[in-house]
Amino acid sequence: MNPQKRYEIFRRLRAENPHPTTELHYSTPFELLVAVVLSAQATDKGVNKATTRLFPVANTPAAILALGVEGLKEYIKTIGLYNSKAENIIKTCTILLEKHGGVVPQEREALEALPGVGRKTANVVLNTAFGQPTIAVDTHIFRVSNRTGIAPGKNVLEVEKRLERRVPKEFLHDAHHWLILHGRYVCIARKPRCGACIIEDLCEYKHKTIDDEDEKTTRKPQTKTARGTTVTKKRRSS
Ligand code: SF4
Repeated sequence: MNPQKRYEIFRRLRAENPHPTTELHYSTPFELLVAVVLSAQATDKGVNKATTRLFPVANTPAAILALGVEGLKEYIKTIGLYNSKAENIIKTCTILLEKHGGVVPQEREALEALPGVGRKTANVVLNTAFGQPTIAVDTHIFRVSNRTGIAPGKNVLEVEKRLERRVPKEFLHDAHHWLILHGRYVCIARKPRCGACIIEDLCEYKHKTIDDEDEKTTRKPQTKTARGTTVTKKRRSS
């Protein structure tokens, strides 16, 4: 994919959603860290449901430690893998208090040293809580990057590195959220909604669903060009 196309893709994603952010509810870096740890193999909606009850009672390392593992489980037992997640969060709270004065560190290495925190979680926290231009490649970003041709790669690290190199600097901080949301709601795994996709004419995926009958009914008939002119898009004939 050439740089002009890539620029136009992000320009449109930004025009559609100028201030994207996570769908997880949080109000402090610590709350975000806990929410992201809980979100592994779980939906943001499910995590929000649990943290809506948990955070008013305990939203600091000390308060969660006071709950103890069993107490914490009571709040998060509706979330998959809650047993191991509860243990990791309790251990993380201990480390935060012992080594970081009870605050979430802003360095990747220190974050990744916390139990249950891998590269992806660290990237989300660095990006969303601390404003760093990191990209946490999850299943959605991996799929969208490969399908569109924005940053193809065989594994998540390869895609992450390519995105960091290829996404124009002005879009780098928010690229993470735009790509996740696009993958979650438009470029979905089973059958991408190409007929409703604002970057369809720029995407290089070979198996678009553009002619699918279901998509024809949802397709936006018009789109904006890079110069802001509204044009009617032609449907492909095959
Ligand atoms: S055109 Fe289809 S495959 Fe390409 S980004 Fe849009 S939804 Fe995904």
